[in-house]
Amino acid sequence: MHQLGAAAARLRDAQRVVAFTGAGISVDSGIPTFRDDDGLWREFPPDTFATWNGLVRGLLLRPRSVARFAHAVVNAVAQARPNAGHRALHELERHKPLEIVTQNIDGLHQAAGSNTVWEVHGSLFKITSLRGRFRRLLSRADLQRIAARLERAARSPFVATSLPLAIRPLLGVGWRGLHRPSVVLFGDRLAEPDWTRARAAARASDCLLSIGTSGAVLPAAELPHIAATHGATVIQVDPEPAFGDVCLRGAASEILPELVRVAFG
Ligand code: NAD
Repeated sequence: MHQLGAAAARLRDAQRVVAFTGAGISVDSGIPTFRDDDGLWREFPPDTFATWNGLVRGLLLRPRSVARFAHAVVNAVAQARPNAGHRALHELERHKPLEIVTQNIDGLHQAAGSNTVWEVHGSLFKITSLRGRFRRLLSRADLQRIAARLERAARSPFVATSLPLAIRPLLGVGWRGLHRPSVVLFGDRLAEPDWTRARAAARASDCLLSIGTSGAVLPAAELPHIAATHGATVIQVDPEPAFGDVCLRGAASEILPELVRVAFG
């Protein structure tokens, strides 16, 4: 495939690579995107379920919907394992200086073994105070237990009382005050220091791979444009590529292993 060869050549010549990943890279790990036709926003509109105000109001007024939404997100991440796309980026690290900037909250790049991962939309595993002070790190097994409790809460006739208990390891009041997952919702600032490091990496890179992201979520979507402005080649990997110097159309779990094989195999 002509485009694959062109992308492999650019990657081979690059000195500093950034991989900018979105929800699409984790689709083949069983985590749906939010925006696509079968995505979560269809059933759970983002103005209610992706803002802290909307979620807190929902806890009081529509606890069963919130329980179902929380279960859908937590269970998908809890059950997920890295796929061939995540593993190919880990392999790429052996050949080139690579920084991964992810919008995902699923911890799958770290689970695949990648070392430098900037999580600009935070992480479902990292629990902080309301002001962002680190409290504790959950494991995937912790998330599996929380997901099981959320599923029971969503079916319970007493959902208004069982949901706050089920969700408490993630969101609630402990002996040190309120805590929450470090995920960035609409209206929040991006996670720091990750966002500052991500912009610096984009400016310094000479090749940016944009993988499984629609480019609709600002300001994270600025990164490929920052890299391009500083002279980097932008390679997009997506079933529906919309921008980039080289566009590789298809699933990340198929294209990325092939790209790394052609470039370095
Ligand atoms: P998005 O805007 O990043 O769009 C998803 C992109 O993935 C689309 O361009 C789609 O064409 C592409 N895609 C679909 N299947 C793919 C595949 N197999 N391989 C490669 N690309 C594929 O994502 P969104 O769903 O609108 O999410 C918005 C934000 O919500 C994200 O930026 C993220 O913060 C969060 N989110 C995170 C996760 C996760 O942690 N896995 C999942 C969903 C949403």
